[in-house]
Amino acid sequence: MNFTIKDRGGKDNPLLQYVFDHSMREHPALRGLRLRTMEDPSNAMMVACEQSQFMANLAKLIKAKKALEIGVYTGYNTLSIALTLPDDGVIVACDISAEWANIGRAFWKEAEVEKKIDLRIQPAVVTLDQLLDAGQAETFDFVFIDADKVNYDTYYEKSLQLLRKGGIIAIDNVLWGGKVLSPSPGDADTVAIDKLNKKLTRDIRISLSMLTVGDGLTLAIKL
Ligand code: SAM
Ligand code: CA
Repeated sequence: MNFTIKDRGGKDNPLLQYVFDHSMREHPALRGLRLRTMEDPSNAMMVACEQSQFMANLAKLIKAKKALEIGVYTGYNTLSIALTLPDDGVIVACDISAEWANIGRAFWKEAEVEKKIDLRIQPAVVTLDQLLDAGQAETFDFVFIDADKVNYDTYYEKSLQLLRKGGIIAIDNVLWGGKVLSPSPGDADTVAIDKLNKKLTRDIRISLSMLTVGDGLTLAIKL
């Protein structure tokens, strides 16, 4: 599949390379968007592609029609999910940067899924409130939370309202490069992630898994 895998330090990772060689089935438009994103200085923000493929498979498994992405960047995962949705499916994609999302747009078009992507450029909290005000509570099947970490708890609570029973919220970067092991009080991002992780451990509204894929991925299934 023409992936060359390097660890964050730039070292080869033969085992991860094996995983990629034996599991990745990247749509040509996804591949194009990944390579284009690699040219962007902020490319470390892009979702891990094996994780994105896993989430798309999950969305397919639960027959998701309505999805929500909080934090789009260049829209790799938005495209990955859009490709699994049926023709009348939709993914509401929330970001504050039109510039990055515009990089993805050409590839969304190439994959012919642009009409399934409802991009909303404004703070995600505003979009979530608009969806709730529009009576869309309990109608979403799949949510990916991957924007500013200090708002993670707010995104989680509003997403849980928007989600139907049996729907899935996937929360990214829950290990935050290992910093959750010893959050320093002045590090607002780590404190916010650790606080939400602790809250979810006891949250009886969901069933829960924390996976070590990528930078840590929590799956919360609404009961
Ligand atoms: N999910 C993306 C992917 O598949 O590659 C990566 C998202 S990136 C880690 C985080 C994104 O969150 C950035 O594009 C940033 O502009 C966006 N963001 C930051 N604060 C935000 C806010 N308050 N509302 C919506 N988006 C926000
Ligand atoms: Ca992320």
